[in-house]
Amino acid sequence: MRAIKNLFVLVIIVAMLVGVGAVALRVMRGKPSGVEEVKQGIVMASSVSSYVYAAKVGNKVILFDAGADPDGKAIDALLGWLHAGRGDITDVFLSHGHGDHTAGAAALRNVHIRLGAGDIALAEKKVPPEAFAGKAFTTVMGFPAVTAGDPLTGAGTIEVGDAPAAKDGKDAKDAKKVVKAFPIPGHTPGSYAFLYDGVLFVGDAMIFKQGRLDPAIKLFDAHPDENKAAIRQLQKQIENEEIDIICTGHGGCTPKGLGRNQLIDLVARL
Ligand SMILES: [Zn+2]
Repeated sequence: MRAIKNLFVLVIIVAMLVGVGAVALRVMRGKPSGVEEVKQGIVMASSVSSYVYAAKVGNKVILFDAGADPDGKAIDALLGWLHAGRGDITDVFLSHGHGDHTAGAAALRNVHIRLGAGDIALAEKKVPPEAFAGKAFTTVMGFPAVTAGDPLTGAGTIEVGDAPAAKDGKDAKDAKKVVKAFPIPGHTPGSYAFLYDGVLFVGDAMIFKQGRLDPAIKLFDAHPDENKAAIRQLQKQIENEEIDIICTGHGGCTPKGLGRNQLIDLVARL
């Protein structure tokens, strides 16, 4: 009888801790970190360790991932740094459909929300995350459903910003800027990496920690082998691209100039 009573007390305590933890996380996600510069014109901020990246393209702004906060406070911090407003955002490139990367997109109107077609149902909460930790986290955080109106299939190049299209004889700086999209199915079926201005955004396929790149955190990754295969494939696809910096969903970015070498080092350890 006493054992049952003790167990009951223990269950209550655990439930309270989970409840307090959930409330704390929901409060914390609305309190973004300070803004840091990735390189000129590209900045980052995070809340509850989910990063949002913003790039100024002419007078417009594009985002890479939208963060864990449905109110988009980290996005607003980045916009403030870039002297821009929400109305200047034209495109949000979502690395995958997990709520801690998509939630902020729920706060935005009239933007192209670009996401791998394989993750549309995940972002709309029609299917749950596959990994247990991801499921639990999503339940605790109550992420909003996000509808991506611009699904991505295969590799592609997307023009961004408001510069006029490049014409013969025109200065290269007047050319339209582009984002190159590479499918990296693994962490989720619709995961994508995006390359813009020498910076490769890889979402949760990789994490930057203790000065090096590692594959996605196992607890949150239902398909580690597929993810590794996708990283190898990605390395081949970007062989001829300039890869200056690699930015991850939860660990920030590699130091400037080291992106390519750190990816080669990661692939050698896979
Ligand atoms: Zn994820």
